[in-house]
Amino acid sequence: MNEKKLLYIETFGCQMNDRDSEIMRQLLATAYETTDVISSADAIIVNTCSIRDKAEQKAYSLLGALRKKKKENPGLIIAATGCVAQQEGEKMLSRMPHVDLVVGPRNIYQLPELFRRAEQQQKGIVATDQAKSFMIPPFLPSLQQGQPHKRFVTIMQGCNNFCTYCIVPFTRGREISRKAEDILSEINHLAAGGVKEVTLLGQNVNSYGNDQPEGNRTSFASLLRRVSEIKGVERLRFTTSNPKDLSEELMQCFTDLKKLCPHFHLPVQSGSNAILKSMNRRYTIELYLEKVEKLRSYYPQLALTTDIIVGFPGESRADFQATMDLIEKVRYHAAFSFKYSSRPPAKSCQMAETVSREEKEERLAELQERLSSITLERNREYIGQRLELMVEGESKAADGQWSGRSGTNHIVNFQSPDVLAPGNLVQVIIREACLHSLRGELL
Ligand code: SF4
Repeated sequence: MNEKKLLYIETFGCQMNDRDSEIMRQLLATAYETTDVISSADAIIVNTCSIRDKAEQKAYSLLGALRKKKKENPGLIIAATGCVAQQEGEKMLSRMPHVDLVVGPRNIYQLPELFRRAEQQQKGIVATDQAKSFMIPPFLPSLQQGQPHKRFVTIMQGCNNFCTYCIVPFTRGREISRKAEDILSEINHLAAGGVKEVTLLGQNVNSYGNDQPEGNRTSFASLLRRVSEIKGVERLRFTTSNPKDLSEELMQCFTDLKKLCPHFHLPVQSGSNAILKSMNRRYTIELYLEKVEKLRSYYPQLALTTDIIVGFPGESRADFQATMDLIEKVRYHAAFSFKYSSRPPAKSCQMAETVSREEKEERLAELQERLSSITLERNREYIGQRLELMVEGESKAADGQWSGRSGTNHIVNFQSPDVLAPGNLVQVIIREACLHSLRGELL
């Protein structure tokens, strides 16, 4: 029996890419087993991200570094996948002639065939066509690999929103929702295998089902309800959402579904209506705040997090101040914040940059300083509270301690006289709050 060859996968970017790497690993599992040692690999996949210039440069520098390996071992297969592969296609081959395969996010299901062709010395294969008829094939992940107690489950691909700064609609195509049956059978499979927490993934999960034919449409809220009925699933999460599609039907789920974790990631991007308009976000700050207030009326203890961009073309000091005012009103539990960088072919790259690099850095620093102090204030509100945690394992931050994640998505470190298994649910009282974690006492 032929010995399996070794496959090394480097994954950049978002959870969608993590998930795609898991799918690629499994699709190639008959001929390849994975290794964490890049120097011993017979094949290397670089799963790229192009959300910001920095991410793209990281992927290119790794691909560039592989040129020498290819010279030493001409039989080595090098594949570039993910959003930079989709965005660049043929252009990547002229820049990186030592790369054998350039494969877009929708073409990963062709990987076994593409690898066979590369093994037969076919060079420079590009598979980035985004056929309109593309359907996300059913997929049952292996239970041997990955986290034993929690998993990401992709429910849709692509996005139709065309926010002017975003490259996703160009690299991941139009929205395609997976069949609800395929999603439910995958989660039943995971739950039967001991997985306790699932996170539903999509670029804009709120519009799940909108592309399905009339009469056979499942809304995101009803999908959540069906998933929460699956035996063995103890916790349910989802990410990410465009506020414009946040429905009251979805908000109601936070009241009704005990398994739905009280954490909502709701990217706002800016506090200025003028900037939101030129970002093509299609909501105003007034509407956003109205939805936040309503969401909190359904679940007052909900932890709210967000994404913010500073330095978008045309952002005046007053626009930036509107963002600073917004975070005072909403008081997010945590936030990811970034300097604007133009991402061709996204529409904003035709807009003149009006905010200097220095000014972007100053605004980002000012924003992050205030966001951090709000996060710490918010974390201190948990002191004395009882929280249920799902055990993640031994703490990476505190020696001799365990860490678990609360429903509100906080990492909590705590002592335990017993050895605990990932996925166990434990009760703690919060005794201390730090910026990125809480400390609890086991009950
Ligand atoms: S909704 Fe999100 S993924 Fe879609 S275009 Fe806007 S920022 Fe990009």
